[in-house]
This record gives sequence, structure tokens and C-alpha cells, in this order.
Amino acid sequence: MDNLVNLFECLKLRCGYCGIEKYEIYIDSVDGNYTCKCGSHTFTPLNLDLGE
Ligand SMILES: [Zn+2]
Repeated sequence: MDNLVNLFECLKLRCGYCGIEKYEIYIDSVDGNYTCKCGSHTFTPLNLDLGE
């Protein structure tokens, strides 16, 4: 079960500016804010309900 918890903690996020989708662990964090390579800090969680 511990392995499943780790997967649930890994949110997939979509940049609100350029629309790229990335897992949060692959998104650069600057001062505690996720920062897309396009410079946006606005991300929308995609898999909160784990539909896939
Ligand atoms: Zn972006």
C-alpha cells in the first residue's frame, strides 16, 4: 500500500499559460512555487480524481 500512496502524491499538473502537462516532480520549483519553463506559475491539477 505504501507504493500506492507515493503514486497518489504525484500530481499531474497543466500549465495555465502554455498548456504543457507535467508531473509535479518534474516541474522546477522556485521559492516554493512551481515554475513552468514558459515562466508561468499557474498550474491546474489534472488527476485529482485519478480517472486514468
Ligand atoms: Zn508553461
